Amino acid sequence: MSAVSKVLIYDLDLEQLVAQLNIWGEPPYRAKQVWEGLYLQLWSKPEEFTNLSKPLRQKLQQCFSFSSLNEVERFFSTDQKTTKVLFRLLDGPPIETVLMRYAERRTVCISTQAGCALGCVFCATGQMGFRRNLSSGEIVEQVLVFARQLNDEAERPTNVVLMGMGEPFHNYDATMAAIDRLAHPDGFNMGARRFTISTVGLIPAIKRFTAEKRQIGLAISLHASEDALRTSMLPINRRYPIKQLIEACREYVDATGRRITFEWALIQGVNDSVEEARNLALLLKGLICHVNVIPLNPTSGYSGARSTRQRVSAFRQILETQGISCTVRVRRGIDIHAGCGQLAGQAEATFSAA
Ligand code: SAH
Ligand code: SF4
Repeated sequence: MSAVSKVLIYDLDLEQLVAQLNIWGEPPYRAKQVWEGLYLQLWSKPEEFTNLSKPLRQKLQQCFSFSSLNEVERFFSTDQKTTKVLFRLLDGPPIETVLMRYAERRTVCISTQAGCALGCVFCATGQMGFRRNLSSGEIVEQVLVFARQLNDEAERPTNVVLMGMGEPFHNYDATMAAIDRLAHPDGFNMGARRFTISTVGLIPAIKRFTAEKRQIGLAISLHASEDALRTSMLPINRRYPIKQLIEACREYVDATGRRITFEWALIQGVNDSVEEARNLALLLKGLICHVNVIPLNPTSGYSGARSTRQRVSAFRQILETQGISCTVRVRRGIDIHAGCGQLAGQAEATFSAA
């Protein structure tokens, strides 16, 4: 049986694992042992499950695949704080996962899709187009890869951001299933609050997310405060314009009591003017929120440039004077193309040409 036709073990939740082992005549506590092996011990091969009988290990081997990600290349930023891995999925498309080491944080940035259908003009993933959705197990495994590495250093991931390739709300069920699997108290046990989903602003999904009252953090990629400009940068704005989007954000904050984050890639002469900052402050007035300003990470398919330091700081100052909390984020690992989809975008170009 080829690896492709096996079921990826991380695609199963605990109940499904219990059901599968039940078919093999094994009691539920055995399934729990497998679960703990995967998500507590972080084992990645059936032979590591020495607490199980040999026949059961063999069954696991025959029935399940333990890896869906082939590591192609690993990159380290010059300060060694950011590691980026380019993987290929078993059927070929590239995806990327990043580990960022901050003072106390160990943040893993994961992908939810290979490519993206939404075509934001400045985004390398958007420039690549859409390949396919990731399964929940493929999303989970990205975190496990870095969890195993950190485990060797007696550490573990503290946060997971869904800000890699793809639009998490375009792959809603698999994304939530992956978070639920990683949050499971009998396994990986990473609290929902340690996850942040970033979305381009798909309103129906934001409403669904609000209704589910999940504890996961939410970030909205806003980037412009006025429809014509936002549509020229994020074409999906035509369908989900700013006014309705902000309304959905207000509903989210009201229903959950949680602060919402807005992301703003600052592009020289495009969305970094004093007027734009003032409009943004007006738009967000009264909303419990935070703005992350990120100078644009230039990509090959877009001619825009990042704003100068002076313009970044003027933009931030206006927001702060207007009472909007704001952080300027430096894109980590610029020197290893750790911006969204940049590396996989290059790999995809090579892949398509091959
Ligand atoms: N699809 C989701 C999550 C992935 S993108 C979303 O769009 O929110 C993660 C963040 O990186 C988004 O805020 C996106 O707008 C931003 N981004 C994409 N390309 C960028 C670039 N070249 N420079 C700076 N930020 C970028
Ligand atoms: Fe997709 Fe997000 Fe990139 Fe837009 S910014 S193309 S939604 S990954």
